[in-house]
Formats: sequence, C-alpha cells, structure tokens
Amino acid sequence: MDSRHAVGVLALQGSFAEHIAALEAVTTSAGKHVPVVAVRTPADLARCRALIIPGGESTTISLLIRKSGLYDPLKEFVALAKRGDGQRSIWGTCAGMILLAKEIDGPTSEGWEGFDGMDVRVARNQFGRQLQSFSHSVQLPFLPSDAPLLATFIRAPILHSVLPPSASSPLVKPLARVPTSLLPSTKRALSATGGQLTLGPDAEVVMYRQGDLLACSWHPELNKGETRVHEWWLREMVLHENDT
Ligand code: GLN
Repeated sequence: MDSRHAVGVLALQGSFAEHIAALEAVTTSAGKHVPVVAVRTPADLARCRALIIPGGESTTISLLIRKSGLYDPLKEFVALAKRGDGQRSIWGTCAGMILLAKEIDGPTSEGWEGFDGMDVRVARNQFGRQLQSFSHSVQLPFLPSDAPLLATFIRAPILHSVLPPSASSPLVKPLARVPTSLLPSTKRALSATGGQLTLGPDAEVVMYRQGDLLACSWHPELNKGETRVHEWWLREMVLHENDT
C-alpha cells in the first residue's frame, strides 16, 4: 500500500483555494476526511496520491510549474495516473484540462512541452472571452444523486477531438456533454483565439477521463456547498472505493 495519503491541489495560481475548501468538506464513504495539501513544491507533491490542477491561466501556471521545479515530478505523476491502475489520480479543471492535454490548439507559453498527458486535442479559450462566460446545467449520470449541476464556463477550452490512445493506455471516455447549441459560432471562436480554429468532432464533450486522469472544461469548485463532483472524484477515482 502506497504511503501517500494526501490529496493535493496545485496552488501556484488560479482557483486553488475553492478546490481546497471543497475537498476539505467531502468525506470517504466511511465518513472520514482526507488530508488536503496545497502543492507548491516537489516535497508537497511527494505527499500526495492525487492532485487537482485548478482553473486559472494555463500559461502562467505552466511557467510557475517550471519555476518551482514541479515539471519533472508532475510529468511522472501524469504518466502513472494515465495507466489507471489506482496509484495516482489527477483532475484538471479548465486551465488544468489544457495542461493535461497532449495537443493544444492556440498559443502556449514558450518552451512549454506539456506532460504527454491525455490523448486529446484541446482548443484554448474557444468558448470565448471573459464576457462570454456562462453557466449551464449539466447532467452527470455517474453521481449518486441525479439532480443536474450548474457548470460555470470561464474562458473555457473546448475539446477538439479524442486522439488514438498511445500505446497500452486506456481509452478516453466522455462523461458529460453540453448541447451543440451552446457551442460558439466559428466566428466567435476565431476572434477569441486569434487562430484558425474550427470546432472539432468532440466539441460537445465537457468532461472526460482516461485511466485515472480526469478533465473538465468548467469550474466545479465555484458552486459553494455543491461538492458532489469532488466527493465522487475522491471516492471513485482516488480511493477506488467501488472497484471489485
Ligand atoms: N483559457 C484559460 C487558459 O488558457 C483557462 C481559463 C480558466 O481556467 N478559467 O488558461
């Protein structure tokens, strides 16, 4: 059994405090809380079996990852989580989804190599600018209670397409979608990114997993008192409580 018990939240920039509050509120099915760590250094990360990469600004977060010496240990963490054998888990929300993607459309910071993460292509900012932020109710059938959840999209990325899985990796599985009518027109997407971007074939997918890597393009930490997704993630994708 791994001696790493804590769940970390990468706390370099973005909405990490809200994720920490949500994780501190949830429990295992035995009613226990798990230790939560704000991760800023490799030593912090070494205490964690799971990590949330929050929303924020992916270019800034990627620069700070490099500066704080977290790039190499995080890359290893991603590779283990991608295998999906229960050793490590990572959940990337919004900017975190961008950082976990293997291929990114749109500008990234100079020298950013990515983590060779999820086998997907993601378009940065494609839902539009700050002013085009919106909330929409999404159905997450895997949650124990099926009441829809209000998902907030802020300069959100859009999944372009699922790529063929890299050797021996599990498949990418879509977990939630929004209706096509919510997707930006190509014109708006172009003006937001400044690139030659068109919507890809998997653009309605707003949450997906590959092994023990999870990504969503919205901000589940912003709904105060709504911690169903954090609790599901902890129990199912970190602790694997229901695995046989
Ligand atoms: N579009 C932002 C980026 O590129 C992410 C926005 C968010 O995390 N809310 O980093």
